[in-house]
Amino acid sequence: MTKPESAGDQYDVVIGGASLAGCAAAILLARRGVRVALLERRSDPEAYKALCTHSLQAHAYPVLHELGLVTALEKAGAVRNAARWHTRWGWIEPKAAPGGPVLPYGYNIRRSVLDPLIRRRAADTPGVELLLGHQVTGLVKEGGRIAGVRAWTPEGEREIRARLVVGADGKDSAVAKFAGVAATTYENGRFGYLAHYRDLPLPRGISHTWFLEPDMAYAFVNDDGVTVMAVLPDKKRLPDFREDLEGSFLDFVRRLPEAPPIESAERITQFTGSVNYPLVTREATAPGLALIGDAALTGDPLWGVGCGWALESAKWLAQAVAPAVRARGDVDKSLLVYARRHRRQLRGHQAMAVDFAKSRRFNPMEQLIFSAAARDARMARHTHRFASRLIGPLRFVNPVVLARASAINLRHRRNRRTIGASGRLSRAKP
Ligand SMILES: Cc1cc2nc3c(=O)[nH]c(=O)nc-3n(C[C@H](O)[C@H](O)[C@H](O)COP(=O)(O)OP(=O)(O)OC[C@H]3O[C@@H](n4cnc5c(N)ncnc54)[C@H](O)[C@@H]3O)c2cc1C
Repeated sequence: MTKPESAGDQYDVVIGGASLAGCAAAILLARRGVRVALLERRSDPEAYKALCTHSLQAHAYPVLHELGLVTALEKAGAVRNAARWHTRWGWIEPKAAPGGPVLPYGYNIRRSVLDPLIRRRAADTPGVELLLGHQVTGLVKEGGRIAGVRAWTPEGEREIRARLVVGADGKDSAVAKFAGVAATTYENGRFGYLAHYRDLPLPRGISHTWFLEPDMAYAFVNDDGVTVMAVLPDKKRLPDFREDLEGSFLDFVRRLPEAPPIESAERITQFTGSVNYPLVTREATAPGLALIGDAALTGDPLWGVGCGWALESAKWLAQAVAPAVRARGDVDKSLLVYARRHRRQLRGHQAMAVDFAKSRRFNPMEQLIFSAAARDARMARHTHRFASRLIGPLRFVNPVVLARASAINLRHRRNRRTIGASGRLSRAKP
């Protein structure tokens, strides 16, 4: 039975999903004077997303700072996420320029720590009402616009009305489905498995990514001495891989260049994985509705950017809609601003990710830049800025960068020829 509407069931904004995107949006909206109902289907406040390697890249730093989470994360043991990447040309090792500022960084922090932390922060924010055990089961529609949600609660069904409904309910967003928002899905040609280890030392003590073309692997250093090891092979390998999951995983890691000593490490979680993880793009808004985080755009997990985009999209939404929601202005007009920003910031990244998810080798442009980045410190920093999503694809592959990469590679070839020739000469000497 739907409870009759009461004054207590009317909010400015109702958000479905209290994970990264939902909690961030609730905090940032409430701080702007908006009254928010934050609904989460799970009833445990400590619940977290297990299928994640939780590396928050540097693009997430400003919003983490705005949320007031940086100090709490550092106290909780979050690791500043420096990394090196293996390519067929050698290692790309981004380092600060001599005398220059430190490289921008984000944090590696397990979701078992991060999710409860941000949920607590949301629950403690004046203006936010966190409603656990509330599963959105339908939408209230009025005059062609979405005007609220229906939710299953421990006390039965409840209708909650609001000037704006936000879907922050992840990749398979029920809110988007109830609203009839079309989703475009793109096949992911890789599958993935991960596990957490203790006592898995990594060269230089920093995170590693292996581009094996087309297979991928990661080792991310995390809080409390935990390293997350993940492998993402081409789907063609799946039938053989699954025959002996643990054996295949260990074998894969053992064969990595500069492989971490997985045999001597202690595995502290089960293997978790996904054999089918398509990328999804949805329109981010409809009248009375906004989607944020994975509900709006689910990227390829291999780039480790979804957490940051969940937080950033929450910020873009709060900035765009709070004044209209608070002042009873034109909310749908303010949603257009959010939709435009979301598209401008993320569609280019998604297009690149969709293409790379075909489980292909590097294309000529990527070969040019990645090979130069393995040979040149400045190009390595440029690649770091893209991997950290501080710049978009157009700046990553702009003509100046391509010209510089070509010059680096030409110089490298010339030097190799000179060394080769002098090597032959010196061998010719008695
Ligand atoms: C294998 C893997 C590795 C990844 N590694 C990284 C990484 O290293 N770095 C990175 O940045 N990103 C990574 N990601 C992506 C990242 O996990 C997601 O982008 C991120 O969790 C999205 O956050 P969200 O808040 O939008 O959604 P979610 O975290 O999925 O949260 C959705 C919330 O909505 C709730 N919910 C669902 N349905 C309802 C409903 N009907 N009613 C009420 N509540 C509901 C859920 O219980 C949940 O709490 C990875 C993803 C995968 C699969």
